[in-house]
Amino acid sequence: MFIIKDFELAGRIGILKTNRGIIETPAFFPVIDPLKQDVGIKEIEEMGFNQIITNAYLSYKRFGEKVISEGIHEVLGFDKVIMTDSGAYQVLKYGSIDVNQETVMNFEKAIGSDIAVILDKPTGDTDLKEAEESVEETLKNAYDAVKLKDDKTIWVLPIQGGKYLNLVEKSARESSNLPFEMFAIGSPTVFLEKYGYNLIIDMIATAKKYLPPEKPLHLFGGGHPLIFPFAIAMGVDTFDSASYELYAKDDRYITDYGTEKLEDLEYFPCNCPVCSKYTPKDLMEMDVKERRKLLSIHNLYAIKKSINRTKQAIREGRLWEFLVEISRYRPEAQSALRSLSKHIKYMDRFNPKYKGNPRGLKFYGIENTWNPRIINYKSWVLTKYEIKGKDGIIMKPYRGCKKEDIKNMNLIYYAPYLGLIPYEICGLYPTAQFHYVNPIPKEVENELVNTIRAFIIKNRQNKIIKVFADKNILFSYSVGIEAEKLGVEVLWS
Ligand SMILES: [Zn+2]
Repeated sequence: MFIIKDFELAGRIGILKTNRGIIETPAFFPVIDPLKQDVGIKEIEEMGFNQIITNAYLSYKRFGEKVISEGIHEVLGFDKVIMTDSGAYQVLKYGSIDVNQETVMNFEKAIGSDIAVILDKPTGDTDLKEAEESVEETLKNAYDAVKLKDDKTIWVLPIQGGKYLNLVEKSARESSNLPFEMFAIGSPTVFLEKYGYNLIIDMIATAKKYLPPEKPLHLFGGGHPLIFPFAIAMGVDTFDSASYELYAKDDRYITDYGTEKLEDLEYFPCNCPVCSKYTPKDLMEMDVKERRKLLSIHNLYAIKKSINRTKQAIREGRLWEFLVEISRYRPEAQSALRSLSKHIKYMDRFNPKYKGNPRGLKFYGIENTWNPRIINYKSWVLTKYEIKGKDGIIMKPYRGCKKEDIKNMNLIYYAPYLGLIPYEICGLYPTAQFHYVNPIPKEVENELVNTIRAFIIKNRQNKIIKVFADKNILFSYSVGIEAEKLGVEVLWS
């Protein structure tokens, strides 16, 4: 049902097989409100969305018995994959609605939903006691749902617990034993608004650690362009949101890194059909309904672009670099990257050791060194690299890999970001054509000095060490001073 084609960090490109055809993940499901919709479903399909999500409860309210006799695809006029949310949002909004698991699931089966969410009790932003209750109730519902499932539909079990990560853990642990085809993280919209990305990343990470990795994971309400790359890196496969319309209603325009007020824009930084044809001024002068529609269309293109860029970064094996790149545009993204870096170990479990044709690495800041491949490389050199030359070790500042007559000595270069580069592996990934900009940040220089210190302390008992240092290169100067402090011979130039 779900085939993973490629991995990078904990992110993946997969194929999800549904009753109505396949979806390539990561994928975004635009939320369709059957009661009011600015952009037509046909237009959404023409933009290349092969999947949508709608609310089972609202579609019954809108179409009544017709949706049961004709099916959801027919009444919405969409022949591709339709996911239905059980109506959980209504539960969150209006308290308990008068339905039970059996009514909801039978309804979702009857209307022909391809991916259906069971009736759950979203945690929301609430106190501990209520959060505990929502976890218990959703689990209880899940056990009931197991008996009601059919094999045609992909049934989705939401993980609850909200901001209480121990509850998310409990919910995910117990849910992982249940035979559901797909899992979801419940109701993060409120959290994103209130707590930023850190909490959501921690919620995803907590759930992922206990859920079976071979099953797809959905994130409810993830519609901000910045959430996609970070959530995908952590292993989220599908998203849904009404953000494209909600932002449009507020005259907000999605960019690569956030949203802008339409009135603040003089030019559109985008080439989608809307932005190619109109200027911000044209839109401002339009009738409200038309403006909302066009803004919604652009917003959907922007979401699609963000997901595609992330997918391309997965294919190229440079997802971490992509995250670092976007983290430099906004403080929220910077903090999202820091949150993500707490889960490097988890991501490294799935990250391929090598990926075909890696491009030269570019280093801009310390964040680039949190890339699991760089962490692994550095730890390998420090703990596993075997020093064979019997006459000792020469350490030189890296200026490229040069053939040198070193006889029985070991030549090891030192460089910011990568730390130590043994001569024998100089030029191999990740030491092939790496670039960094000057000046080097102080924290990167400190890290290099720490690495040198650890290496000297480890090896000075058995080997004679000579360090070459250049007074005119700041990082080399600091290394030389440190080596002298440790009583190692330093040859200055
Ligand atoms: Zn556009």
